[in-house]
Amino acid sequence: MFLSDTHLLGEIKGHWLDKLRREWQMERAFQTALLLQPDVVFILGDVFDEGKWSRSQAWADDVGRFQKMFRHPAETELVVIVGNHDIGFHYEMTTYKLKRFEKVFNFTSEMLVTRKGVNFVLVNSVALEGDGCTICSLAEAKLIELSHKLNCSQQEQKHSNRRCREMEQLPVSQPILLQHYPLYRRSDSECTGEDSAPPEEKTIPFKEKYDVLSQEASQKLIWWFHPRLILSGHTHSACEILHDGKILEVSVPSFSWRNRNNPSFIMGSITPTNFSLQKCFLPFESRVFTIYCAAGALLVVLLLAHFLMPSFYFAQRLISKHKAV
Ligand SMILES: [Zn+2]
Repeated sequence: MFLSDTHLLGEIKGHWLDKLRREWQMERAFQTALLLQPDVVFILGDVFDEGKWSRSQAWADDVGRFQKMFRHPAETELVVIVGNHDIGFHYEMTTYKLKRFEKVFNFTSEMLVTRKGVNFVLVNSVALEGDGCTICSLAEAKLIELSHKLNCSQQEQKHSNRRCREMEQLPVSQPILLQHYPLYRRSDSECTGEDSAPPEEKTIPFKEKYDVLSQEASQKLIWWFHPRLILSGHTHSACEILHDGKILEVSVPSFSWRNRNNPSFIMGSITPTNFSLQKCFLPFESRVFTIYCAAGALLVVLLLAHFLMPSFYFAQRLISKHKAV
């Protein structure tokens, strides 16, 4: 199962009613979705809204709420990828914030998760600024090492070089990239579907390293990994795009009613050579409100009828008596 951008509200910008309602809805939606019994749930970043600036106590509160909302049976694995709201945009990102995030989610940036012969590469896309900052250099080095490992696993043992033979063998399967920022695309103008960006937003050009990865970083990821599929978040809207005419990237929309009227998640069935994805929509928030309002109005009518009817009958009886006299 893939979902993204849950944006659990923080103590500074979050209103208690908004928090109560939207988080209750996400909890119910997630707990219901677990009935589909996914093997692994991947959350593609921006789990928290204020992880980028929250102090220790606020962070602990947010984490506690997350663990309650996204509780899951032991046989379901939960893997969380880092987003800019969790640790800040590149210039706000610090080792402290990154470590704090990794400690909670048992996630190390730039790591490989192999399940049932399928290789998932978890990318900290905030660290792909390409400016040589300490976190960025470390991230790039780890990604290059991972790409070597994956490339070695594609070679036949007898043809492989000594370096490859010394490496741990991975399943022979082209990897799937999971990250928060999408790879570079000019805008969302080519995205279609009922949950793609609204028409007035689609033509707004994306800013590199802010809305999407830079062209350079995107090209590097494709060169290093030759992925067969990329799943990303961040834009809060849906999009399917082909890179180099063959690599599918799916932008997973936000899971929160706060960011869209029709949130969704994706169920994937993935084998080492093939995959199939299916989107599952949550209810429209506007429809749920309409139902609440209609139910409220009906309740008022029933209450009025209940309290006013006896006096109506009393008045009617009085009149009929008067007439009789
Ligand atoms: Zn984001």
